[in-house]
Amino acid sequence: MTNADPRFSANPVLIVGSMAFDDLDLPSGRARDVVGGSATYAAIAASLYTAARVVGVVGHDFPDDTIALLESRGVDVSGIERASGKTFRWAGRYAANLASRETLDTQLNVFADFRPKLPEHFRDSKIVLLGNIHPSLQLEVLAQMRGPELVVADTMNFWISGERKTLLEVLAKVDALVVNDEELRQLAEDHNLKRCARAVLKMGPRRLVVKRGDAGAMLFDADGVFFAPAYPLENEMDPTGAGDSFAGAVLGNLARAQRFDHAAFRQALLAGATVASFCVEGVGTTELAKVTAQSLALRVRELMQLLDVNQL
Ligand code: AMP
Repeated sequence: MTNADPRFSANPVLIVGSMAFDDLDLPSGRARDVVGGSATYAAIAASLYTAARVVGVVGHDFPDDTIALLESRGVDVSGIERASGKTFRWAGRYAANLASRETLDTQLNVFADFRPKLPEHFRDSKIVLLGNIHPSLQLEVLAQMRGPELVVADTMNFWISGERKTLLEVLAKVDALVVNDEELRQLAEDHNLKRCARAVLKMGPRRLVVKRGDAGAMLFDADGVFFAPAYPLENEMDPTGAGDSFAGAVLGNLARAQRFDHAAFRQALLAGATVASFCVEGVGTTELAKVTAQSLALRVRELMQLLDVNQL
């Protein structure tokens, strides 16, 4: 990687989130101690488009190789604290059709006492992804920032049900929220997507991105509704981290475009859908980490062809 790499000239995206070991029960079999976490997936995805900075915590058992992989992709890892204790651990079991999953176990470990401290040079980051993590930690990160221009939050059912009040404080401070349809319904306490979107847009964010797995993603804002299809895959292995990869790619793409308007978000959703599709093709980050500029460009073009209505 050289300084001519476009990632270095674009706005760096600040990402806070989990770094984890995941134990996965997949239709293809069991996978144990898979390196994951919302920040890991999001940083790898964002680094396809721009430089990234990660704030997080790992335990003594987290592999140096993964940190080195992030660094080799232009990710500034100086905000990753190595604490004594075990790395955060999550266990989940997927349904045979991969469409749903249940959380079997969540062990906070080093996250239990984590207080994010942003390195001085992280505080002026213009673009922030508050990845899936305890909402009070998301707030602590925001409090240390100096005038970010775009703040996007992700979250999950665990925090919507367990930390709703703090999550609502986060929502009041962000520009956009990224959630899946199930989380949206849980947050808005309704089943109709459009009504749910209207309710969430009243909670603070100006834009809402709803991930719908292999049914694509939607953008809701004052300019209307946009739909991005999912890239149709023949071999789905492991959807873990697809949502985080999606969010990382959306933010990376916006950072690269240096525009945060409705049109830029539409484009970014297509980038998110494409990058997330690579993630699903392998267990953990294996396939995501192999994406090249060429494979990405090809798949974006194929995805755009799905939207081609000029041939009707
Ligand atoms: P996704 O499949 O995109 O929802 O992301 C799954 C990733 O989120 C896994 O790698 C987990 O380690 C991580 N994760 C699961 N539960 C939590 C949680 N409560 N807080 C933070 N990260 C989590």
